[in-house]
Amino acid sequence: MKITSAEFISSYADVKKCPAPDLPEFAFIGRSNVGKSSLINMLAGMRKLAKTSVTPGKTQTINHFLMNKTWYLVDLPGYGYASASKSTREGFGKMIEEYVKQRENLNCLFVLLDSRLPPQANDLDFIEWAGGQEVPLAFIFTKTDKLKQNELQKNLAAYKKTLLTRWEELPPIFLSSSEKKLGRDEILAFVETAIAN
Ligand code: GDP
Repeated sequence: MKITSAEFISSYADVKKCPAPDLPEFAFIGRSNVGKSSLINMLAGMRKLAKTSVTPGKTQTINHFLMNKTWYLVDLPGYGYASASKSTREGFGKMIEEYVKQRENLNCLFVLLDSRLPPQANDLDFIEWAGGQEVPLAFIFTKTDKLKQNELQKNLAAYKKTLLTRWEELPPIFLSSSEKKLGRDEILAFVETAIAN
């Protein structure tokens, strides 16, 4: 899919205030600093659509972007930032939970995972919870330019193995690098197919 327009629409901490659910929607989530803003900017083909965070854990809102005037790309808050206060962390949880449970036009939730790391407890916790909801998931392993092929394959294999102890089947998996512009075509093709079906 060619991106011809990408427009910031809204930024809310309340699911009820989000735009009317009248277009297919694709949301992106992950731990703070996983590379979510960079990925969104790469997908949009714009350098500053989503703000890359200087302070991890700062995005506490649900941000809607209208893409090609036909679908919403949603930037969700990061989860599991250790330095956020306890009450703020619970707030992230509640907002994310309500969004995933209530957003009727949510077509796919992309969970971003840092390809440099072995399976992380908070990512697995989130995946476990999200997997129990009705929304389809997909995984994006980010920052793949930062490690060698064999290290990447090792980390991927470890993730798959861990996930397959809990799930019978894995959701679609993408590899990305915002630095090297990798994964863009595959993710956008997936979105295009999902919209068409
Ligand atoms: P967010 O907090 O998940 O939105 O993460 P950001 O997009 O702000 O990225 C966090 C940091 O990782 C920034 O310093 C980015 O420059 C860096 N980063 C993000 N994606 C990549 C990538 O694909 N490759 C490399 N090498 N660095 C990345």
